[in-house]
Amino acid sequence: MRDPIETVKPAVRAISAYSLLPHRASIKINQNENPFDMPDEIKTEVTKRLASRPWSRYPDFVASDLLEQLAAFAGWIPDGTLAGNGSNEMIQAALAVLVGPGVKVVIPEPTFTLYRQIATIFGAEVISVPLTGRLSFDIPALIDNASRLHAGVLILCSPNNPTGCRIEDQDLINIANAFDGIVIVDEAYHEFSGNSVVKLLKELPNLIVLRTFSKAMAMAGLRVGYLLASPALAREVHKATLPYNLNFVSSTVARVACERYETNLRPLVQEIIAERERLMASISQISGLDPVPSHANFFLVKSALKPQKLFEELLDRDILVRNVSHYPMLGDCLRLSVGTPQENDEVVLALQDIISRAGA
Ligand code: PMP
Repeated sequence: MRDPIETVKPAVRAISAYSLLPHRASIKINQNENPFDMPDEIKTEVTKRLASRPWSRYPDFVASDLLEQLAAFAGWIPDGTLAGNGSNEMIQAALAVLVGPGVKVVIPEPTFTLYRQIATIFGAEVISVPLTGRLSFDIPALIDNASRLHAGVLILCSPNNPTGCRIEDQDLINIANAFDGIVIVDEAYHEFSGNSVVKLLKELPNLIVLRTFSKAMAMAGLRVGYLLASPALAREVHKATLPYNLNFVSSTVARVACERYETNLRPLVQEIIAERERLMASISQISGLDPVPSHANFFLVKSALKPQKLFEELLDRDILVRNVSHYPMLGDCLRLSVGTPQENDEVVLALQDIISRAGA
């Protein structure tokens, strides 16, 4: 009898699952989360709304109130808005309807590893285009690959995880106009970058923008993401989402977070941006460590000391960062998320201590 495993697609058997080592530490700066918890004002309002709604009932079949609110929040139209269980689900749903065997998906590399993972599972061929030596997008090479290879989809993460580089509007326009496929821009970290490409949705009918509540919106534990595109494209992607994919607890929190963003969340985002600059400036003073400029709430640090050694030394001091040295082009890098001011001070002290002992 044939081994049942042999019925699994060979492309799937050839890859390993997306995973994260289960380390724990008091200072957790390995997943680009918001270091500040959701403000109490928002939690209190959510609790009130949840208590007054029957839990025995399904969420709305079409979450039109939520979609209207998300669209207004993002500056787009409700008909072109979809919500789901984290932006991961939106990546999966978009690729489910766009790619399959024979379709080429162009991604810059290094980037968020899930794009390659999901595209591979759907049977697409993934073409990676290396970033430039300065770890920014290689626009001419992206355009060349997308047009010459007749790519079905090109995925850009902006700001890019894990490098922090950002796509400029004109570069995106040039890319989107250069080939017949779809451009997906994953804006998971846009709040920290001072720019969004949502304003280009009107003029670029082949653009899909993905967003999440897991980073700036301080809701990683609640799993809310959304997609913005032309109504025609959004209707197609909707076919690949599951009914009731977003539970009413999470959608209620997302709605209150949108309503209170300016008052309760934006100030925290501003603080994270200021802390990013302060933390990077302090780390750049430490010999053998070189932070890479970033538009996100994280940044790379190039290290003269082996990244695995630095990772372990930090973990010994109860600080968990991401070792990204196995990514292409990042052999000497760690990725640090920006923490609270106090956490950032402790990170700098720990790095100073590690480096001075290593030099001794
Ligand atoms: N996109 C990018 C670029 C990310 O870094 C992440 C989280 N690491 C996600 C999407 C997933 O976000 P969510 O929690 O909304 O699924």
